[in-house]
Amino acid sequence: MINSHAHLDFENMHSIAQNAVAIVPSIGKQNWTDVQMYPYFALGIHPWMVDQHTQQELDYLEYLVKCNNPVAIGECGLDYTKDIDKDMQIHFFVSQLEIAEKYKMPVIIHSVKATEDVIFLLKKHPKVVGEIHGFSGSQQQAEKLIGMGFKLGFGMQITNPKSSKLRSVVKNLPIGSILIETDDHINPDDLNIVAQEISQLKQIPVEELIQQCDNNAISLFELR
Ligand SMILES: [Zn+2]
Repeated sequence: MINSHAHLDFENMHSIAQNAVAIVPSIGKQNWTDVQMYPYFALGIHPWMVDQHTQQELDYLEYLVKCNNPVAIGECGLDYTKDIDKDMQIHFFVSQLEIAEKYKMPVIIHSVKATEDVIFLLKKHPKVVGEIHGFSGSQQQAEKLIGMGFKLGFGMQITNPKSSKLRSVVKNLPIGSILIETDDHINPDDLNIVAQEISQLKQIPVEELIQQCDNNAISLFELR
């Protein structure tokens, strides 16, 4: 079972890191080296971290992408719940979309209360595909993104009965566009719980759901 988004290099992640096959995203220069210890890693600058980075470091990110063979650029994106300058977030996000375009790589996107702007910017980079991790948008946004070649990642949030909107989005999604993830959760059972929950929502056997989500990750990130 492939975990499409897990910060295995973070502290306290030992128990989950043991048996996980995971895409390990970076958040910025502070863990560009650490994530490369895992077979499948991504290199990028998280929107929460952009104010700690310079243009020079964006250039260095491009150099690392060129030389070190990540499976994706990320995580990158926009988060409008954080008190971080919007224009700066957009600049770093667009720069990383350009790197993805140039090196024909998928992106891993963090989008919180910013999905309209994310869609707007992605439309300007129609060749770029990837994952919207921890998807939290609407049904309409989900459909738009899938139409643009994106897959949507879901984690423990969908198990919360209060997430009724998100649960109905998952119910209606084509199974070929779903990825499962645990992000920064430390419980190794969480991925199973997420898979169980989605299989119930979609009324399909959990083995089938897991197989399909694995295939979705393998094809998007070209895993070997
Ligand atoms: Zn993350």
